[in-house]
Amino acid sequence: MRMRKLPWAEEYVKTASIVEQQPQNWAGKWKERFSSDSLHVEIGSGKGDYWLLMANKYPQSIWIGIEKDINVSAIAIRKYDQAMIKSSNMCFIQKDAETIEQWFAQGEIDVLHLNFSDPWPKKRAHKKRLSHASFIERYKYIVSEQGEIQMKTDNADLFEFSLLQFQEGNWFLHEISVDYRRNEHPEDAITEYEQRFLSLHQPIYRAVWKKFPYQNKDKKKR
Ligand code: SAM
Repeated sequence: MRMRKLPWAEEYVKTASIVEQQPQNWAGKWKERFSSDSLHVEIGSGKGDYWLLMANKYPQSIWIGIEKDINVSAIAIRKYDQAMIKSSNMCFIQKDAETIEQWFAQGEIDVLHLNFSDPWPKKRAHKKRLSHASFIERYKYIVSEQGEIQMKTDNADLFEFSLLQFQEGNWFLHEISVDYRRNEHPEDAITEYEQRFLSLHQPIYRAVWKKFPYQNKDKKKR
């Protein structure tokens, strides 16, 4: 869903101190910059609820939100600006994640979050899905060997597609649920879209992938 244009968005996002305009300058240095050894990155942060709530829940970790839409980003940043309590380990990147591998060094990210990514239902647009093989290849480079990717969605087609893409990319399916919120998960914040689907009593699909632990060893043996 496209959000209406906000006349104040561009100036606001350009001048907000939480926004990193040159993320490529920090590749390999994020942990040093924030004096933390745990880096979480969310792609497609939308209006920022998850990014803000999780950063407050886990303030020792770094939380970087990435969002390409400038109007939606402006809302997220305004929420951050107006929040009474906020972690000092936060940063926002208002850009398209298609060049994400330039913003992080090899193995720098510990947890990558994909929450309710756009489903792009038409086949010819599948390459824009954040779980398309071309994105998964980039994630393989920037996620650490012990790191993981966590995904939540309401969309069964996107979920099935993602399972196959990660499988083909040789990732290890560590956790899977087809009704994640049937049980309480106080450790994991609810996103704006998630709240909407929960109100409609729709199931939430969730998976966690890790880098396949035996992948490199097996290849060497053969
Ligand atoms: N994660 C939020 C939630 O769960 O409420 C927002 C979900 S919304 C359906 C998906 C968001 O991902 C949109 O705001 C869209 O602009 C953003 N997005 C999609 N592709 C992106 C990309 N390549 N880089 C950065 N953001 C992207």
